[in-house]
Parts: sequence; structure tokens; C-alpha cells
Amino acid sequence: MKIIRTINEMKQIVNEANNKTIGFVPTMGFLHEGHLSLVKEAKKENDFVVTSIFVNPLQFGPNEDFDEYPRDEEQDANHAKQAGVDVLFIPAMEEMYPKKMGIKIIVEEGTDVLCGRSRPGHFDGVGTVLTKLFHIVQPNNTYFGLKDAQQYAVVHHLIEQLNFPVKINGLPTVREQDGLAKSSRNVYLSDIERQEAIFLYESLQYAQKRVVDGIENPDIIIKEVTNMLQEKTSGKIDYVELLSYPALQQISTITEPIIIAIAVQFTQARLIDNILLQPNGTKIDRL
Ligand code: AMP
Repeated sequence: MKIIRTINEMKQIVNEANNKTIGFVPTMGFLHEGHLSLVKEAKKENDFVVTSIFVNPLQFGPNEDFDEYPRDEEQDANHAKQAGVDVLFIPAMEEMYPKKMGIKIIVEEGTDVLCGRSRPGHFDGVGTVLTKLFHIVQPNNTYFGLKDAQQYAVVHHLIEQLNFPVKINGLPTVREQDGLAKSSRNVYLSDIERQEAIFLYESLQYAQKRVVDGIENPDIIIKEVTNMLQEKTSGKIDYVELLSYPALQQISTITEPIIIAIAVQFTQARLIDNILLQPNGTKIDRL
């Protein structure tokens, strides 16, 4: 595995790749099995795999956890190598943003809900950094986790509407044994919060059961999930939403594929999770 730190060297590798297919997994590092599942899938489908590690300041709000975001480059390099990454691209801040960006991507579609509403400008930052990374890495395929389902929808729009020649793949959320979605931010949960955090996925599974039971009114499900989270966790609920997916529109009856998504702010970690369902309640794991 090569570790590359400059855009020029990265571009040179891409130029020398000729007709080989490139699979690309963008990350912010502190790699866990969720990230590595994307790498393994990319490895199956491409001649070589590029993974980037870049904690992108543009997607963090002024009061968010950019400074505290966990980082461990040595451990990441070991994990990446074991999972089969061919090129680990770790640009420094000055390499990606040598000066203040005078141009940015503004994502208007699908950002007035969920994390887009709670984190203004977040998806503009995501869109801007991915535009740069797609130009630098020129992948044939790119891999995203459905743990961040709104991000998947936004990146899908970005690729489609700006004509990036790359295919996006959405892969299942990898979870701990007790159901908690793996996340770099889980290390910031206290012991008690870690125990409470299992109720994020439990509440989503309960919601799925209610859809399977035939409940068609989103308000009923939102209320039940909210009550469960309030009762079982000490975190502050940021949102509980049920929307059409991938359009991310409010709906009054469940007659099309949906997302049920939640965000809970614990003392030092804001956790998100979601479940994607067909209108009959069957889970959608992959896109
Ligand atoms: P991040 O490092 O948080 O920006 O995540 C990089 C990529 O890994 C994104 O596509 C995430 O959706 C994906 N990812 C993060 N956590 C998980 C997980 N638990 N399961 C599957 N994919 C994940």
C-alpha cells in the first residue's frame, strides 16, 4: 500500500493507471469496520482501491467537533493495508486548501431536512470536498455507507447533476453486535451513554415493525420513536423524521420507499442512524 500526501503524486498514479478501474472510498479516518466494508466491496469490483483520509473543515459548523474529531493515522494505515487499500491518500489541510476557497458547491436539493437542517452548510462542504477529490482521484466507482443516507442522496445528486463520470454505490450500515452503528464518534460516549445508544437502532427496528404491521401514518411512528428515545436515553433528540427516500420529502402516508432517521446529541458525541424501508416494511440495505 502506498501512502500519498500530495495532489500531484496522486494524479500521477491515476495517469499511470491507464485502463485500470479505480474504486474510491472517501473518509475522514479513524477507520472502523464500516469504512473497511466499503474498501472490501471496492476491492471486489475494481483493479485498485484509493481511500482518502481528510477531516474536511468545510463540512463542520463553527460550534462542531472539528478540533476534537478523532484522528489516528498509524492505526488507519494498518487497517487500510489489511483491508486491501492500494493507495491511501492523506492530504494535509494546506494541500487541499492552500488558500481560502473562493468557490464552493451549494447543495439546494434534499438539505432542508435531517442533518442538512441541523447543520447548515454541512452538505455544501461535503459537495465541495468531493468535487475536488473526484477530480483528483478520477474514480470509476465510489462507495458510500447508507449510515449517512442523506449524504448518499446528496452525493448521488452531485454526481448526476454535475456529470461526474463515476458510479456511486450505497452499502449497508455496519453495526456493533448490540446494533449500535459503528462510528468514529462512538469513542466519545460515556459508559452509560454507550449502553443507552443501543436504543437508537432499537427504536428504528421498532419503527420497522410498525410499518410491517401496516401503520401508514408517519406521525404515529415519529411519536413512538421519539417517546422511546426520550425514555431510554439521556441524550437530546436533534430530530426524528420519516421522509420519502431518496427524494427526502415529507409524506402523509407511507406509499413509497422511506427513510426513518434520527439524530441524538450526547454529551460529547452526536450520533445519527437510520433505516430505509419499502412501503411494506422490507428493509433496503443497499443502493
Ligand atoms: P466518515 O469517515 O464518517 O466520513 O465516513 C466515510 C464513509 O464511511 C461514508 O461513506 C460513511 O457513510 C461510511 N460509514 C461510516 N460509518 C459506517 C458504518 N457503520 N457502516 C457503513 N458505512 C459507514
